[in-house]
Amino acid sequence: MTNFDTNIFESLESEVRSYSRGWPAVFESASGSWIRDENGRDYLDFFAGAGSLNYGHNNPVLKSALVDYIVGDGITHGLDMSTVAKRDLLETFQDKILKPRGLDYKVQFPGPTGTNTVEAALKLARKVTGRSSIINFTNAFHGMTLGALSVTGNSMKRAGAGIPLVHATPMPFDNYFDGVTEDFHWFSRVLDDSGSGLNRPAAVIVETVQGEGGVNVARPEWLRALADLCAERDILLIVDDVQMGCGRTGPFFSFEIAGITPDIVCLSKSIGGYGLPMALTLFKRELDVWGPGEHNGTFRGNNPSFVTSKVALEHYWSDDTLHKSTLAKGEKIHQAFTELANQFEGSVSTRGRGLVQGLVFEEPEHAGKVCKLAFDEGLLAETSGPSDEVVKLLPALTITDEELNHGLAILADATGKVCS
Ligand code: PMP
Repeated sequence: MTNFDTNIFESLESEVRSYSRGWPAVFESASGSWIRDENGRDYLDFFAGAGSLNYGHNNPVLKSALVDYIVGDGITHGLDMSTVAKRDLLETFQDKILKPRGLDYKVQFPGPTGTNTVEAALKLARKVTGRSSIINFTNAFHGMTLGALSVTGNSMKRAGAGIPLVHATPMPFDNYFDGVTEDFHWFSRVLDDSGSGLNRPAAVIVETVQGEGGVNVARPEWLRALADLCAERDILLIVDDVQMGCGRTGPFFSFEIAGITPDIVCLSKSIGGYGLPMALTLFKRELDVWGPGEHNGTFRGNNPSFVTSKVALEHYWSDDTLHKSTLAKGEKIHQAFTELANQFEGSVSTRGRGLVQGLVFEEPEHAGKVCKLAFDEGLLAETSGPSDEVVKLLPALTITDEELNHGLAILADATGKVCS
């Protein structure tokens, strides 16, 4: 057994490390929805690399494409040169994702992470409009670099890093007020009122479901009203689909449920498919005002990720099988969580969409206790929300019903122990 108190992680790795604290094991290998530690103990993974493994760990279809690519001495660096891997990905993305949805976006490779695509989106919005402030939402999460952090709603995440770099004005996310946000009257008034002190913003940035913020689900009609308001006032609408995109909520893009077309879309996490870093920024063709090299860098693409991304898009997005099974599995979790909410009425509630589902605890510390008990029983689940009061499930979309049942039984048991 590893002695976790006296190991190299504790002595050498910065105190900033986080997941290792909730899951005190040293992991070595993984397959599908299972991850194994160095002592050979298997854990069912309900977190899937923070949503970067929608197709599961070491997905065999993606793995064989990646192995072939490496064995064939494929390009591995990330400069934005034209490569066969990139061409194949762009063609597949156009055929499987953009064309069937009638989306005429251009594609930028902004860097390896979700934060990088958010930074590119904010920068582009400012460049296009010549305006600099941004509207974000309460409890939003968009990343950890100084620009993305400025539009992150939860001020705790600023970690003492000083005043926000980007001027951002938070507005209440859907359901912040009970019913009061039914119409967007107040929002329009604040925007149009020269006395409100709000500078005309370049863009609004929004998640359709706030993942880190505690699985807060925006209603389709709320998203439509937001899109209309932006369009009427010439404000760009950025949808950050880093966590909710790539099928997490059912459709490939989470905003499809609302029938809106954002001006700019941020994708990362599962777009590479295999857990390797990759991000995309998509924007309407007329917004492509970048000059060559204006947003340049070493890792602007990741050719091995392009290979797995292309295969994932072909394999999982040529029809609506994955979309439908995601909704069915999401419904299964929703039912299990609703039973818990009924059983522990007043202590537990639930919310979610597709395969992002939250179990919300009235007593915030209960969520952490449930995750700890679940870990002891061999299940990885994480908390989210401003007070870490939500157990957020982000399983691989390829998880089986049996695996779901197994994990849900562990969570029900843990919830019973904590709430009784
Ligand atoms: N946007 C959203 C909505 C996210 O959930 C995250 C990551 N949790 C990010 C941006 C930042 O992505 P990354 O951690 O890859 O930088």
